[in-house]
Amino acid sequence: MMTADTGATSAERYRAQIAFDESKWVTHCVNCSPGSCPYRAYIKDGRVVREEVSGTLPPVEEGVPDMNPMGCQKGAAWSRTLDAPTRILHPMRRAGARGGGAWERISWEEALGEIAEAMLDTIAESGPEAIVQAGTASEGGLTAGFLFEKLINRIGGTTTDTNGDIGDFSVGTYLTFGQAAAASSMDDWFHSDLLLIWHRNPAYTAIPHYHYIAEARYRGAEVMTIAPDYNPSSMHADVYAGVRPGTDAALALSMARVIIDEGLMDEAFVRSQTDLPLLVRSDTGRFLRGSDVEDGGRADQFYVWPSGGDAPARASREVLEANEGAALNGAYTATLADGTRVEVRPAFALLRERLAAYSPEEASSACGVHADTIRLLARKAASKRTAVLLGFNSAKYYHGDLMERAMCLVLALTGNWGKKGTGIGVAVTGMFDGAFLFAMKPAPGRELIRGILGMRGQVIKGMQANDPGLTDAAASIQMQQGGAGNGHGAVPAFLWYHHTPLGERWERREWSDPSMARPLGEYVDEAVERGWWRGLARPGPEQRPRVLFEIGSNWARRMRGGRGAYGRILDGLRLLVCMDWRMSSSALQADILLPAAAPYEKPGFAQPSPQTLLLTFSDACVAPAGEARPEWEAFAELARAIEERAKARGLVEYTDGRGVARRLDDLGSYFTAGGAFETTERVLEEMVLDTAEAGTLPAGTSMETFREQGHVRFIDWGITPFAQVQAADLRGDETHAPLRHHVERGLPYPTLTRRAQFYIDHPWFIEAGEALPVHKENPPMGGDYPLVLTSGHSRWSIHSMNHADRAMLGTHRGEPVVVIGVEDAAARGIADGARVRVRNDVASFVAQAKVSGAVRPGQAISYNGWEPYQYDGWRHSAEVEPGMVKWLHFAGGEGHLRYWTTQWQPAPIDRAFRVEVEAAPEA
Ligand code: SF4
Repeated sequence: MMTADTGATSAERYRAQIAFDESKWVTHCVNCSPGSCPYRAYIKDGRVVREEVSGTLPPVEEGVPDMNPMGCQKGAAWSRTLDAPTRILHPMRRAGARGGGAWERISWEEALGEIAEAMLDTIAESGPEAIVQAGTASEGGLTAGFLFEKLINRIGGTTTDTNGDIGDFSVGTYLTFGQAAAASSMDDWFHSDLLLIWHRNPAYTAIPHYHYIAEARYRGAEVMTIAPDYNPSSMHADVYAGVRPGTDAALALSMARVIIDEGLMDEAFVRSQTDLPLLVRSDTGRFLRGSDVEDGGRADQFYVWPSGGDAPARASREVLEANEGAALNGAYTATLADGTRVEVRPAFALLRERLAAYSPEEASSACGVHADTIRLLARKAASKRTAVLLGFNSAKYYHGDLMERAMCLVLALTGNWGKKGTGIGVAVTGMFDGAFLFAMKPAPGRELIRGILGMRGQVIKGMQANDPGLTDAAASIQMQQGGAGNGHGAVPAFLWYHHTPLGERWERREWSDPSMARPLGEYVDEAVERGWWRGLARPGPEQRPRVLFEIGSNWARRMRGGRGAYGRILDGLRLLVCMDWRMSSSALQADILLPAAAPYEKPGFAQPSPQTLLLTFSDACVAPAGEARPEWEAFAELARAIEERAKARGLVEYTDGRGVARRLDDLGSYFTAGGAFETTERVLEEMVLDTAEAGTLPAGTSMETFREQGHVRFIDWGITPFAQVQAADLRGDETHAPLRHHVERGLPYPTLTRRAQFYIDHPWFIEAGEALPVHKENPPMGGDYPLVLTSGHSRWSIHSMNHADRAMLGTHRGEPVVVIGVEDAAARGIADGARVRVRNDVASFVAQAKVSGAVRPGQAISYNGWEPYQYDGWRHSAEVEPGMVKWLHFAGGEGHLRYWTTQWQPAPIDRAFRVEVEAAPEA
């Protein structure tokens, strides 16, 4: 058909619309967890005009649907971000009050020179620890903040642990398994017979993989959602259990009781996989240990009571035994090394006592789920291949650890991990070994990687010779833990405690668990004095941050407590440097802005995870906009600028706070390995070749491989602890279910007891009444207000990215909303679409009300990720977050209660605190 205006047929117009000059592989290296979706970008006249999901992922396991199409609506509109009004195109210096919006353009040379001078001033006046890099969530990709750490490490600066800021990784899963990194591949969901969607909303947050839930249902699986609100994932479920916010532990513990009471427990699994047969002393509440019963005995030797025996028997440290004859109930008398006789009981007996308080009826009155539904959930979990689809939500609750431990208990009692279609867990990363080792390389080539891998192998063998039963994963973790306090990494809880008002809030006992019997400061001091956080509590109380680097992590958006919390740090800064490709809320407050090349303008890889097992490539399709540069190349220039100015000042040698001698006169060549790694392309090439050498990518994999096929599936786990704790063979023809080596081969877990651990006998846990999982009420954080504010990731953004994207804004109300239930809205005279003020004792913010029948009375929801500048006066939802930490998470020094990257540490909470919502004056 011809059209009147152009004379072209509609087919011709359509062809013109989709015409392109070339196409390349891309993805969005933005940590959308798991992301990694392979896309084709189409380029015409030097512009990326559109992108499409590739649909080229091959099937993995026969009978299991492939991962196609992997993509989401943000990815499908990503090219629009390249020329969005929010792009940062030039280096700029703040030209007025912070955040006032006045900037002056400066050259790269000026910008980097000014930054270098501020860093040198800080080193001279305050020490290098006062130069702080806000740990990045990799929104700029693997070559952004992650590689800047090489420079921070060299000068003796500080990088805050990302998870210490955001609290993503499950504390309760960590306490149970000694790691919070093992997770199934997304296609393994297909094997489940029961999917318990718990603290997750995959219809919003797992758009590329949601199809596995639907496909599992077609196969016959049942889907049940457990959430306070009837969220968009609930409408596709067979059962919805509406739980009162923060009471999931009561629900799960009641399920555990039903499973035991009704004889549904998988006893063999409990005996072999868990610590529940281990003996606990009644006098101290601590495990019976080798050091109790033998002179010179090991403190990490534990005992069971053999059936019909008259003395405790050692539990193997080398293999998970069947423990068929070990008592699970009863009380016994053990003789200690000094002849004292003490009562000992299996942890399982203590668990049964604890569960006595959780009949379905009693639990129902606590959690709001009907007793019959609790029984139904328990019986289904016990009879089916069950997986808990856990998200990053529970860890952000004050007692999220207790909820997760109780969920793990349900899975333990029903034998539901270490098999396809089962388990619980959220993934971290791993496998891309070349990326993790890159910062250690002083020169290109494979020799070094062979040397590192060989040396590492020898060290692990030595550790295992001294400690039989120590797995490779456990040895890797111990190596990380041993070195953690010597590097640039820091646990940010100490930074917030010493340098922000959060420290004062954390002292409020009425906002904390009642078990916090002493001022928080006493716990912090004790933890530091005992050396539990040695080298990690940096910068110290007397060392204010002076230069802050914020590299694509939008620190000012995600910091719990918002400006009310981080403002004090900003006020004390000499310089806030932001490098980003878009004007985020953090960038708006910068002193110096550095324009970064965006995805599609630089080569990069998405952060891999066991959930997809893919390394997905994103090519440089067009030149960076304006004066933007890839981060790596800008940092190389910065390293040279520091070196040059240090030489000019005569400040080339100094000693950091730990007494380590530092040099700056070779910083430029150190950073690029003598000029070998000047470009991002060269860095990535080295990472790929090293990873292939390490054997986690197929031999022969190169950048050309990625340019041809866009992605490569990993073939092995490699050397990072995050990957090794998967404890399963990585096969090319199977979905991935973690922890199989523990269940199938009896390989010990990386915990204190070398078993999945439900009894934590650290003295502080005993003091808190949390040696075993228990339900505790959520503290009334924020004050005495009637509503509980919860959150979650929205459908429209990856963190704060895309929230200001015009395409996304056009798909919803176009501004931040607070979702409130029909009854609560009516009681307050709030109509749908009205402006409301959300307030508590901390602060307030204004947003649009979205009145919904899907939200329970007493709850309000503020979805995460809106940019502060999208709210009135830039006062966003984080402002009302009390940002409390759980005092107990400062515990350490025993077993697996030790920090390693992203794992065991306190993190401020941003869920389920108290607020009031009321009508606000119209703007
Ligand atoms: Fe996939 Fe993330 Fe891109 Fe969406 S934004 S298409 S989830 S990589």
